[in-house]
Amino acid sequence: MANRTVALVPAAGRGLRMGGDVPKQFLTLGGLPILVHSLLALERADTVHEVVLVVPSAERDYCLREIVARHGLTKVARVVPGGEERQDSVRLGLQTVGDEAEFVLVHDAVRPFLTADMIGRALARAAEWGAAVVAIPMRDTVKRVGADGLVERTVDRRGLWLAQTPQAFRVGVLREAHRKAQLEGVRATDDAQLVEWFGNPVAVVEGSGENIKITRPEDLVIGEAILAARRSGARDA
Ligand code: C5P
Repeated sequence: MANRTVALVPAAGRGLRMGGDVPKQFLTLGGLPILVHSLLALERADTVHEVVLVVPSAERDYCLREIVARHGLTKVARVVPGGEERQDSVRLGLQTVGDEAEFVLVHDAVRPFLTADMIGRALARAAEWGAAVVAIPMRDTVKRVGADGLVERTVDRRGLWLAQTPQAFRVGVLREAHRKAQLEGVRATDDAQLVEWFGNPVAVVEGSGENIKITRPEDLVIGEAILAARRSGARDA
């Protein structure tokens, strides 16, 4: 199929910053695991044809049964065991994506509020440039702080954007960037960073302040509020 897009969802983290022993992608928001919200958004997006889910290897059976089957996630084609770090999990998932795919959309399981609109815009820019990242402009004043806890200087925030996911790529671009990074031992905190390092342009698509990453316990409180606003019809899903 032309323009075939595979969404790759790294969900193999242990979520240690959240405290407790349940990885954050399995915590619930509005009665559903965070991961399920993310997968349902991909399920609803017409531009996504297939989903590859990357999970902790010990959790694979649980995910097949309690996440994929229970919630009728028909686009999830494979559930793949993840790796040590996020970059390893994405690489392992990517290895299962066939050459019939033209685009890959990487989306962190712990950002449950992505929308079909941002997915569509990211894919359109990736078709143009090979890579596109959803991001929002920095609105706070940014300080560089030394180890002594004192401000060293204020950083000019003009032109600074905070990267989110989804991030969209031509499959070949992301594959080559990961392959070269693996060979040379380069590590990055997102896929766009690897592609920048590889030398391909990365376009920016404006995301949303609601597209939060659930990292700390207080993010669950904010997440419940966003969900309640959407469910009451005040926001688009
Ligand atoms: O820990 P961090 O916030 O960077 O995690 C971002 C996403 O990457 C999460 O959805 C997490 O489950 C995933 N991840 C992964 N494999 C790892 C570490 C994180 O798939 N080894």
